[in-house]
Amino acid sequence: MTLALSGIGVSRDIAIGKAHILERGQPEVTEYSVPRRQINDEILRLNQALDGAREQLKQIRTRIPASTPTDITAFIDTYLLMLEDSALTSAPADIIRTRRCNAEWALKLQRDAMVDVFDKMDDAYLRTRKDDVIHVVSRVLRILLNQDTNPHDGSASLKDAIIIADDLTPADTVLLQHQGIAAFVTEYGGPLSHTAIMARSLRIPAVVGVHHARGYIRNDEQIIVDGREGVLLLDADDALLKHYRRRQRAEKQYEAGLRRLKETPAITADGHAIALQANIELPEDVKPVKEAGAGGIGLYRTEFLFMNRPTTPDEEEQFENYLRVVKAMKDQPVTIRTLDLGADKPANDTRSGPLFTNPALGLRAVRLCLKDPALFRPQLRAILRASAEGHVRLMVPMLSNMQEVMQVLHLVNETKKSLRKDKLPFDENIPVGGMIEVPAAAISANLFAQHLDFLSLGTNDLIQYTLAIDRIDDEVNYLYDPLHPAVLRLIYVTLNAGRRAGIPVSMCGEMAGDCRYTRLLLGLGLREFSMQPSGLPEVKSVINHSHISELVRPARKILQCAHADQVLTLLQQINET
Ligand code: PEP
Ligand code: MG
Repeated sequence: MTLALSGIGVSRDIAIGKAHILERGQPEVTEYSVPRRQINDEILRLNQALDGAREQLKQIRTRIPASTPTDITAFIDTYLLMLEDSALTSAPADIIRTRRCNAEWALKLQRDAMVDVFDKMDDAYLRTRKDDVIHVVSRVLRILLNQDTNPHDGSASLKDAIIIADDLTPADTVLLQHQGIAAFVTEYGGPLSHTAIMARSLRIPAVVGVHHARGYIRNDEQIIVDGREGVLLLDADDALLKHYRRRQRAEKQYEAGLRRLKETPAITADGHAIALQANIELPEDVKPVKEAGAGGIGLYRTEFLFMNRPTTPDEEEQFENYLRVVKAMKDQPVTIRTLDLGADKPANDTRSGPLFTNPALGLRAVRLCLKDPALFRPQLRAILRASAEGHVRLMVPMLSNMQEVMQVLHLVNETKKSLRKDKLPFDENIPVGGMIEVPAAAISANLFAQHLDFLSLGTNDLIQYTLAIDRIDDEVNYLYDPLHPAVLRLIYVTLNAGRRAGIPVSMCGEMAGDCRYTRLLLGLGLREFSMQPSGLPEVKSVINHSHISELVRPARKILQCAHADQVLTLLQQINET
């Protein structure tokens, strides 16, 4: 009889293949003593292993597709920085010297000490840093122990295999794809985990969060992975296999059709033009934006220029980065968001302030910028200067009250004055907009709209703050629900506020790029979407097959629902017509 196991589907594709269970704990390490005269050789052995690990990671970086969001590929840079840090270079060498022990043991002791420190910190972001330390040290240990560093137990070829693992690192995911796996299933992880986002970028069918999967699945057993529905099917009969093979073929044809959509404009079947833009993190991200045929950049997350480095980029460096993007996009709009440092995006120094128990509720984004004009002013100058060369819009994250709106506008005016004085050109009419990411901002959107030129719904944070769930905490992932009636009402309130004030409202959170929500959002009044470039063709296809006139009434009906289940039923009806 067919057995179905459910988890969270993170990549829409389907795979049918043989299971390969990956059992891979931490490498076993034992202590042995090293004679005094061989201490230097032992330290050399450690340094060579560190060099080897650096080299491997650089190799992995070259295999990541250009379309992968830079915050995901940044994990490699984090690992590389760790491998340069004295905590992993000098400290284990000191242990070898004082304890006269082997390099593996010294590294293990140092790792345990670091993990201990992280364990004492009560912060979700730092917990992910602890995992990074474990991953990096394992890689170096495997080199020292002459073990395979690939996520592979050496027993068989992984080509076309469906990997079943407790968890995978983003680096493992890249390497597994290179070995030709058909899909993967993990016991841990949520839809926003780095491994899940990597699976989407690499187009690997994947289901994560299938608790105890390894307890149900045998090696070499045939299984079906349905990444769209988030299910695994074991012991499927012929009829079911036939059904899934047919679906697999249909998906492939559908995707080929989507690729042809690049040049087609996004216009609903009843003639409404919809703006489809893309999100970027660094200038390099412009290439996939162009390839996807986006009509501009709806969110440029500038904080990535400030992360993973010890110093703050000055006005000139920022200007050069922004200008690269503006020039590459020619006359298309580029929405540059001011710094959103803090919470899960800390800088490497004290710029994001000390760590508090609730960093997401702390000194983050515009709050940090307004508190530290020395950080904010150079960025405003750089953005305004870039506006002389194209169609730039300036956008401010995490606004929560009118004082912040007015303070930002005051600082923008001051910056304009200083640029006039310095005879530096800029767009006098540069649009200044605000993100709606906090319930207070959505409820105040009508007030914000009287002073701002546009609004943009940052649903990743709006959902986090409305539902009081940490967006990076795996334990509360099940509560992260874009269809929660409270979230939908806040979106609707914001769209109405923009419409009444005659200013555009876009959406740049992940919700905008998920085609399951496209029709609902059109019905609620959204006309501008910004998303990861890979989501664009599918959203466009839905738009081109929708009649807004038929969506308004059902969307309003959804707003009246008391419960998410009712929302889901109505949403299915909207999507099926
Ligand atoms: C959001 O919160 O939806 C958003 C787009 O901003 P970020 O994901 O960078 O916080
Ligand atoms: Mg946000």
